[in-house]
Amino acid sequence: MSISISKRLMKVADYIPTGGSMADIGSDHAYLPCYCVQNSIVTKAIAGEVNDGPYRSACTQVKNSELEGNIEVRLGDGLDVIASGEVSTVVIAGMGGQLIQNILEKGKNKLTGVQRLVLQPNVGARFVRSWLQENNWKLINEAILEEDDKIYEIVVAEPSDTVKPMDKAELLLGPFLINENNPAFKKKWKREMDNWERVLTQLERALPSNEIEDKKKELLFRINAVKSVVDKATN
Ligand code: SAM
Repeated sequence: MSISISKRLMKVADYIPTGGSMADIGSDHAYLPCYCVQNSIVTKAIAGEVNDGPYRSACTQVKNSELEGNIEVRLGDGLDVIASGEVSTVVIAGMGGQLIQNILEKGKNKLTGVQRLVLQPNVGARFVRSWLQENNWKLINEAILEEDDKIYEIVVAEPSDTVKPMDKAELLLGPFLINENNPAFKKKWKREMDNWERVLTQLERALPSNEIEDKKKELLFRINAVKSVVDKATN
């Protein structure tokens, strides 16, 4: 039976090059690899899961979809489930940016031979962008979309010897997304800005200390970075 996946996962699938192989780390139900094989995006996939429940769901899904010849479900932590050179694309989707960063850092020796990373942090995309920049992965595209009142970012990277350093605002907002004037981008950052402004007001009332001053400075930086991009897009 052909599988239907969320708009978010479909957008992730758009960035997986056709004709290669993929590993989906933290695959849960293995919806993404099943969709990619059924739609001839990849011929071979590995679905990695660290937790037993999702691992079993993935096994069931692959079996019910009769895709056991194309998709291997493996139980293990992060990139431990793949060998170097085994797949051309690695996807890590639906987790926090810091967890994605940790998985990449811990398993970076497994990324030799990987030609593309498709990463979809639910929050904290800046941690992912920083890791990519520090580890010679060049951002080649980004996307942002809204589904069920949640806003998701997708970051796509390829290995490169010439990685252009991102400034702090680009790390936070995304160098591609900054220039896109996407309604989901404006909505996300307006929401965040409202939160930061609320926190800033509370910090103004707190007893002064170096720590409070640092937090205020960081929030002001973020508010100004977002304002300048959103205002530029509106004018
Ligand atoms: N990737 C799917 C998606 O985007 O819809 C599932 C996302 S689900 C919210 C996150 C999954 O990542 C969970 O099934 C969890 O067990 C798994 N996970 C968390 N940490 C992991 C790790 N270090 N290695 C492998 N899987 C992990």
